[in-house]
Amino acid sequence: MSDATAKKEQRRKFQAIRGTRDLLPPETALWNRVEQTAHEVFATFGYGEIRSPIFEPTELFARAVGSDTDIVSKEMYTFESSEVPNLVELRTYYLSSDYAEDVFHGGSEDTVDLLSFATNVVGAFKKGALPQTSENLALVDDFLKKVSQIDATQRADVLKPFREVLHNFVRSVHLGDPTALRPEATASVCRAYLEHGMQSLPQPVKLYYIGPMFRRERPQKGRYRQFYQIGAEVLGGTDAPAIDAEVIEMLMTYFDKVGLHGATLYINSIGHNAENCRRGYVEKLKSELAKIKDNLGPDSQRRIDTNPLRVLDSKLESEQPYIEKLPRIADHLCDECKAHYAAVKRQLELRGLLYQENWRLVRGLDYYMRTTFEITAPGLGSQNAVCGGGRYDGLVELLGGPPTKGIGFAIGEDRLILSLQEGGKGAVEQGRDVYIAWMGEHAYAAAIRAAKDLRNAGFSVELPPVEQKFGKALGQADKLGAKYALILGDNEVAEGLWTLKTLLTGEQQKFPEPDLLEFLCQQKKVSS
Ligand code: AMP
Repeated sequence: MSDATAKKEQRRKFQAIRGTRDLLPPETALWNRVEQTAHEVFATFGYGEIRSPIFEPTELFARAVGSDTDIVSKEMYTFESSEVPNLVELRTYYLSSDYAEDVFHGGSEDTVDLLSFATNVVGAFKKGALPQTSENLALVDDFLKKVSQIDATQRADVLKPFREVLHNFVRSVHLGDPTALRPEATASVCRAYLEHGMQSLPQPVKLYYIGPMFRRERPQKGRYRQFYQIGAEVLGGTDAPAIDAEVIEMLMTYFDKVGLHGATLYINSIGHNAENCRRGYVEKLKSELAKIKDNLGPDSQRRIDTNPLRVLDSKLESEQPYIEKLPRIADHLCDECKAHYAAVKRQLELRGLLYQENWRLVRGLDYYMRTTFEITAPGLGSQNAVCGGGRYDGLVELLGGPPTKGIGFAIGEDRLILSLQEGGKGAVEQGRDVYIAWMGEHAYAAAIRAAKDLRNAGFSVELPPVEQKFGKALGQADKLGAKYALILGDNEVAEGLWTLKTLLTGEQQKFPEPDLLEFLCQQKKVSS
């Protein structure tokens, strides 16, 4: 690296990666309030918190979210999680054009290198350091069979016929497990439910989570690549409509407690995956979509074959008049699904919850069934969905478990916060309660004691680390938005009377040390 380049590198300003951001005070206080309220409200409905890892096998999401969804096919952050990083690095080099060039210019024979590399890989597989998949086992077996004919001491040119075999093996063997940053958490919760044998607990098991998710989407307001969800899942038990309604009741209670106004609840039923229900509807939808194909955009055209239900999700302006005329699923539900949907609505009404029906609210995967819902909030522009949820009775089975009922939701926490801020509910008190303006050695000892007692009583206190003139200290207290300044000079300490200034009014009062704390506690009670 040249000096100039090295200097440029040193001067490089680091910035948060596109689509990610820092959450800073005072806003983080709002995040904490929103999360604290979730802990409190969800606990009153009997939910316990689960904290699952933020990376999982890619396959878990491919199965649970669907490999032909945008989330899985385009938006996941994936990497190979390997126990043998040195082999991974070597392989990258052997398969690169750099290596081909080195071999060419240096005149050495790549088959020798590859044979020794492949032998190391086989050794690592046998020691259990590579994924013990059937694919890897077959590759290793096949490779060993073929190379048993090679005498490794032979000259490189004799090895040449095996070059292709070696290349294939080196290219195909999995040195690690495909791993992904989670794009959502329902799959992880279902995995954990199975992994920890939660089927043997009293059913249903009610879990909630709070944490970051990762999707490589195009960043815009309300859409980030690292974003946060607050979600809940009910697993096991029955599919009684009261469960669906109670999950929604919990959500609406939460939104209310957190101060979100103007949220609208949309519901729908997408039936179940049977010929006399959703499957029949999808066939009909497909044939109707085929008729209007030329009027649809490329995404919807593609979805006619891959996932026709998702066409109903389209927000493309020019498609709307056509989509609105398509057949509606409510007219194609089987009797049980119809009855379930009617009962969910009744149960919502019993709980005094207002809803709007939206026949276009669908989920494109087979294991989703019956109830789907979405909540929108004001102040979010085009990304106004603040929560999505639904029933997914087939998911646990899809992940290798027994048939298990499931329903859940995920709230977009970033959007919830945005909406609260837009609605004027985002302000969180940020100033200090007390700024201690001290001058003099004796005063400093008293100041430390006062700070300790006040903090123990729950007040936020700023204790300047160095002595300041009182005028400067009071200016500082104002800048920090402190409510009170406690003025402590050597005189105050000698007298045993401490001065408290209320910064808003300028009023000053003198207190003996013990009375001061009592006075402040009293004031706090009055103001809360
Ligand atoms: P989903 O998991 O796609 O059903 O999304 C549930 C909720 O998460 C949505 O209603 C949004 O509020 C939120 N959400 C999804 N993707 C993002 C994103 N990229 N950035 C911010 N919030 C998101």
